[in-house]
Parts: sequence; C-alpha cells; structure tokens
Amino acid sequence: MATGKINVQAENIFPIIKKFLYSEHEIFLRELVSNAVDATSKLKALHKMGEFEGELGDTKIEISIDKKKGTLTVSDKGLGMTQEEVEKYLNQVAFSGASEFLKKYEGKADDAGIIGNFGLGFYSAFMVSKKVDVITKSFKSDQSVKWSCEGNPEYDIEPAKKKTRGTDVVLHILDDEKEFLEEHKIQSILDKFCKFLPVEIKFGTKSEWEDDPKGEKDKDGNVKQVEKKVDNIINNPNPAWKKTPSELNDEDYKSFYRELYPMTFEDPLFNIHLNVDYPFNLTGILYFPKLKDKFEFQKNKIQLYSNQVFITDSVENIVPEFLTLLHGVIDSPDIPLNVSRSYLQTDSNVRKISSHISKKVADKLAEMFKNDRKDFEQKWDDVKIFIEFGMLSDEKFWDRIKDVYLFKNTDGEYYTVEEYKAKIEPTQKDKDNKLIFLYTNNKEEQFEYISNAKNREYDVLEMNSPLTSHMVGRFEQKFENTSFARVDADTLDKLIKKADDIKSNLTEDQEKQLKELVEGIVNKETYHVQFESLTEKDNPMVITRPEFMRRMKEQSETGGGGMFGMANLPDSYNLVVNANHPLISKILIEADGEKQKQLAKQASDLAMLSQGLLKGEALSKFIKRSVELI
Ligand code: ADP
Repeated sequence: MATGKINVQAENIFPIIKKFLYSEHEIFLRELVSNAVDATSKLKALHKMGEFEGELGDTKIEISIDKKKGTLTVSDKGLGMTQEEVEKYLNQVAFSGASEFLKKYEGKADDAGIIGNFGLGFYSAFMVSKKVDVITKSFKSDQSVKWSCEGNPEYDIEPAKKKTRGTDVVLHILDDEKEFLEEHKIQSILDKFCKFLPVEIKFGTKSEWEDDPKGEKDKDGNVKQVEKKVDNIINNPNPAWKKTPSELNDEDYKSFYRELYPMTFEDPLFNIHLNVDYPFNLTGILYFPKLKDKFEFQKNKIQLYSNQVFITDSVENIVPEFLTLLHGVIDSPDIPLNVSRSYLQTDSNVRKISSHISKKVADKLAEMFKNDRKDFEQKWDDVKIFIEFGMLSDEKFWDRIKDVYLFKNTDGEYYTVEEYKAKIEPTQKDKDNKLIFLYTNNKEEQFEYISNAKNREYDVLEMNSPLTSHMVGRFEQKFENTSFARVDADTLDKLIKKADDIKSNLTEDQEKQLKELVEGIVNKETYHVQFESLTEKDNPMVITRPEFMRRMKEQSETGGGGMFGMANLPDSYNLVVNANHPLISKILIEADGEKQKQLAKQASDLAMLSQGLLKGEALSKFIKRSVELI
C-alpha cells in the first residue's frame, strides 16, 4: 500500500468544508451522482468517436445503502480512472477546486446564499463521511485501484480487485449524519436533484404487479396478480425540454407538466418551448399556469437546471420578475453555478438569458395572436395578469407586447388598443378633443352606470385585474390626450364633457339650504355633497367615486405607485344632487321639517343602495321607511 499526502495549503481544510457547508449537506449526493453521470457520458462520447471500442453494455448508475457497514455507495460504469488519474484528479484537481472556494469565501460563512449554490465537487463527500473509498477501474487499464481518505490530508492508494469498468465511491457515513443511511432520505434527495439526469439511476428495487404468467385465476375468475421486483429508476433521462418541439404534442407537454408538479391538478394554459444555442445555450419549457383566482400567485415554481442537474427553484432575480409567476424548467450550462446568488444577479450571461427569455415569451404571445386570434382571446382573461405584470415591470416587454394587448368590453368583445381607439373615437371625445376610455371593475355592482353610458352610445371596458389602476395610469402616460375613467367616477356629463357646465337651476340660497339638509343626514367626511343639472330621467341623487383618489388608494394597496400611506385613507365619495329632478324641488318646498328630512334621506339611501353602500341597520331602516312611504 502506498500513502501520499494531499497537496494542502490549508491543513485544516476538511473541518472547514464540513462547517462551511453545514446548511446544505445533502448537496454531496448531487455532486457525486453528477460526477458519475459525467464519467458515463464521457465514455459514451469516446465510444461514439471510436476511441473506446469495447461494449458499452448497461450504463446504469447505482446508489446503494449498507446499513450494517454504515456506507452509502455511488457506482457508475463510466470511464473509470487509472492510478495516475486518481492521483491527479482526486488529489490535485478536485482539491484545488475546494481550496479555491475556501480562499474566496473564507470568513463569509454567514452569507447563506454562497453555500446554497456552491458545488464543492467530490470533496463535499467529506461533509457527511468519516472515510471515503474510491474503487475504480479505467476502461484503459486492466488493474483497478482503491483510494481511501479519512478526511485528513493523508490518503492511501493500493491495487484493488474490482473487475468491471467504472467507479464506486463508498462513503463511510459519520455518526452524526446517519440520516443519510435512510432510504426515504436518499430517495427524497435523488428526487430533488437527480430527477432528470441523462443517465438512468437505480436506487434499490420496487414492486410492480402483473398478470400471472401461468395464467392462474383467482376465485372470481380473474387472472391472478403476481408481484414482480423491478429496478427503482429514480429519473427520467430524457425529459421533454431536451426534445425538439416537433417531437412533442400538446398531451406530451401536459404530461411533462404533471411530472414536474405531481401535486397540481389543473392543466397549464399553454407552454413555450425554449431552445437556444447562440449566443448562449439554453433549453427549457415555460408554462403559463391556470390560476384558481387572480390573486393567487405561486412564485418560485420554475426550476433551474444545468445540464439536467437540478440547481434551484428559487429563481427570483435570475429570471425577469414576472416570469417567476410562470412554471416550468430552464436548463443552461451557461448559468454559472459555483458562485453566490448575488453574483448571479449581476452576471452578464444571466442578464442576457433573462432578457432573451422575456423576448421569447413576447414572441410566442404575438405568434399565438397572429395564428389563432379566437383561441388567444379565449385564453386572454387567464393570461392577462401575467402579461400586465410583465408590461409594468419591464419596459421592453411592454413595447413587444403592446400590439397584442387586448381590451375586453362589457359585451365580451376583444379589441387591440388601436382597434379600440378607432371604435370609440367618434363618440367618446370630449369638447377638448380628449379621448375618454370608460371602464368598470364590476359589471354587477356598476350595472346602473354602465347602462347609462350605453344609452349614450358609449362603450365600457371591463378592467378588473388587481393591476388595473397601474395599467390605466401607464396607458395614460403613453397615449397622448387620453384618459381613463371608471364609470362610477363621476356623472356621465362630467366624465365625457361635451359642453361647458350647465348652471344649476337652483339659486345659491337653495343649494345652501339643501346642502345643509343633506349633510345633516349623511356622513359628510365620506360623502361630499355637490350639485349638478342632470336630466329628469336621471336619479335625484347619484353617488360617484372620484377616479384620482380611488386609483391612488388602489395603487398603494397593490404596491408601487400611489403615495405612501394612501392605502389607509378612508374611501371617499361624491353625493351628487340632481338639481333638475322634480323630487329635489319637492324636498325643497316641503314645509314639514321632519317629512323633508325623510324624503332627503330616502333619496340619498337610494343612491347608496345602487352602489351597494347601504348596509346593516341603515338598510333595514330604509326598508321600513319605504314601506311607510308607500
Ligand atoms: P469536477 O467534477 O467539477 O471536475 P470534482 O471534484 O467533482 O470536480 O472531481 C474532480 C475530477 O475527478 C473530475 O473532473 C473527474 O476527472 C474525476 N472524477 C470524479 N468522480 C469520477 C467518477 N465517478 N468517474 C471518473 N472520474 C471521476
């Protein structure tokens, strides 16, 4: 047996490795299995090039636990290593990787981000092992070797008896890491990191039931089921994202979605298959998920892979923010993995990848719109929220998508922005030539306002996403001489002002008298009493919600925009008294003070009722009073 000394710069590297990677011990398995996959893939490549002429045979990687011996073994049938290679790769190359890492990050152990994404390679085995044996036979050599190291700079190397090609890495698990000898623990780590590795990985066996080959029947006459032990293959070596789109149909994409998210029962809306090889390498499939309700976002569903090795599912700051709402996989060997997250965010490759993905998403949406507009319209309500989020958070995305952004009106018709402008231009320009977009966020509650608008040949949009007030604000910035108003923001004459204000036909004194009366019966902090000359067909009193205040409040509720603290402001309404209505004149001339109050109360309650603002005691009082009046 020969002993050697690992070329050490820091004598105490092993304790440091252990301490350093404390939070992510399970990563060692990803590192070892990745090495086994590399060794297998390299051998296959050599075979293809004719440099390895032997039989490839079975190339399955096997992971096994021996509880009695306290070992966990990763075995591959890859290219193996000669003694020289062991000395070179395990003692020098692997070691220099480890010590470089330590040099770089020493003293920054509390930056948790560093650890999560750093692969220490082979040496991470020492996080969980008191001793590691590598028994390996190169495809080039007849002699196998065994290398052993007990987590100190000394190692042993000796001839071994292994007859078959490949490498066994045997970990003698530390006493305080015994969980790594539990099947379920190993199975769950493999599920997380190795689910799509490109070489079959076997972990024990599992039972399958099949028809009895002898055809024996049970007492009911059905063919008996017999148990069969089969290899437990933990991965799908050929995942959908690695195939070309032409090989896959809709059902394939859906079934891959279920493979990624076994706990999600809803099918995705549609997918985007990414396949780039220049200027960087990137494959993947993104899914637009179907949201159960529009406020339910699930972030961090995208999984990031590097050559089919799982890296992370917390992609925030790696992909554009709005994409974190999507589901799916991104796989790129160009995303540097052996660095911290904060580095990732500023890495120029990552930034390019990120903007490329956002372009792809926009292109796909534009293509869907062009190829099948009906279908696109059907999906619109579900995808709108993602698109709006993208448009608001990424100016380039806005520009790419603006021609396929759809407005939907209360009749369920969809228009592009330009189409819609053309539609409303003849009717919805005010006296100053300003184009007014009318919208509702609730067709039921604002029914009255909508039908009034329609009576005047105006069109009303349905805009009810949580981002509506942000979108509306942005549209106003982008379009010239245009504004948006919710149908209940003011009376129609004020929303689209066709002429100068008509003077109220009440005298100043009469207005003053009425104002005092009305302010005495409503909460005047919430309701601002105003006078307008509407038609006799309009209601005697109308409640409106001023656009500006409401929008500021909504914007600060959904974050961004608005002014700080606006979310806590009370709601504010205008109570518009229709100076032209006969009931108002009747109230004015009513001599009996009590009766006058009752009439005014009835009119304001009616206005509140149509806005859904009359509740509880006020509502039951109103009903009682109505019965009396009848
Ligand atoms: P990396 O994989 O990043 O190169 P590692 O520390 O994991 O770094 O491994 C160092 C080297 O040891 C590898 O590059 C490879 O040459 C060799 N090696 C590790 N595991 C195996 C294996 N299972 N089969 C063959 N060679 C291996």
